[in-house]
Amino acid sequence: MQITKIETFKQAVTLKKPFTVSFATLQELETIIVKVTTDSGIVGYGEAAPFEPVTAESIATELPVLQLFAEKLKGADPCSIEDIHARMDQVILGHTAAKAGIDIACYDILGKQAGLPLYKLLGGSSNSIESDYTLGIDSTDKMVAEAKKYVAAGFKILKVKVGLDDRHDVEVVRAIRQAVGPDVELRIDANQAWTPKQTIRLMRQFSDMVSAVEQPLSAERGDGLPFVRAHVEQPVMADESVHNAFDAYKLLAAEGADIVNIKLQKSSGLYGAQQINAVAEAAGAPVMLGCMVETRISLTAAVHFVAAHRNARYADLDAFMDFKEPSWLRGGFTQDGGTYTLTDAPGLGIECDL
Ligand SMILES: [Mg+2]
Repeated sequence: MQITKIETFKQAVTLKKPFTVSFATLQELETIIVKVTTDSGIVGYGEAAPFEPVTAESIATELPVLQLFAEKLKGADPCSIEDIHARMDQVILGHTAAKAGIDIACYDILGKQAGLPLYKLLGGSSNSIESDYTLGIDSTDKMVAEAKKYVAAGFKILKVKVGLDDRHDVEVVRAIRQAVGPDVELRIDANQAWTPKQTIRLMRQFSDMVSAVEQPLSAERGDGLPFVRAHVEQPVMADESVHNAFDAYKLLAAEGADIVNIKLQKSSGLYGAQQINAVAEAAGAPVMLGCMVETRISLTAAVHFVAAHRNARYADLDAFMDFKEPSWLRGGFTQDGGTYTLTDAPGLGIECDL
């Protein structure tokens, strides 16, 4: 099989309400849908959803890179995923979102060619996963109301964004815990906002109210994570500190994390995600699949990855709930509270009109 054409479609994504994390408030975003056409008639869909603060990539940087890939990959076999990545890496270093867009589309084609849903192609047996829901930073009242709403809707795990104000963070986590009772799991994500000592002090206050802390220190200060991990009771999850397998290897060898948050847009897609997961599993660390503001295309790829890998124990794949889903995109998975069930259609199982 040969790639005959790669097209890109820039699409607006407008969140239902502003979403605040420690370093940014998001509302109007864009994403790039990637369509790969082959000489066999099989078409694959992928997505590049760059997020500047995390990967230093934007729509403006990834569109021309995807154009370069479109020229370089013409005639290549989309089912030879390692070769596809080697060719992309020859063109340009980094640009993990653009590479994820091509990677996801090629896996979609691979699944369609094999007649298998992606989770089976990757070795999995179950088509259902459990995701959390993430609460952005807001007033205590609003965050508690949102927590109750999503628990009532069937979510058993909530991720709470923190990191703007220590007192508010402790107050809001305590209020959410009181509102949702003891059986809902709460994780917090400081998105790089804290110092090592601040993390240790705050995690003592959060005590058993929370089950893990995500990325307390800035990505550049990953060298402080072993100190933090040694002094906090709760598991420490690395997100912005880990983009690829080498980052995971360095951090886990230094005892700097208990869990790794893989995002397909950081890892250049499923191929890189598998490498990170293998390193983490060897180090005894489970992984979570997280997301940027992504549509159902990239999210479905991540759901397949979680369904396929035992070591992918957690999922934070809730972005599609925060915006009005486009009419040109359907399928992938159905959702009942935090439980997502993949369709058994070949490849991603996505229907896209683009
Ligand atoms: Mg995070």
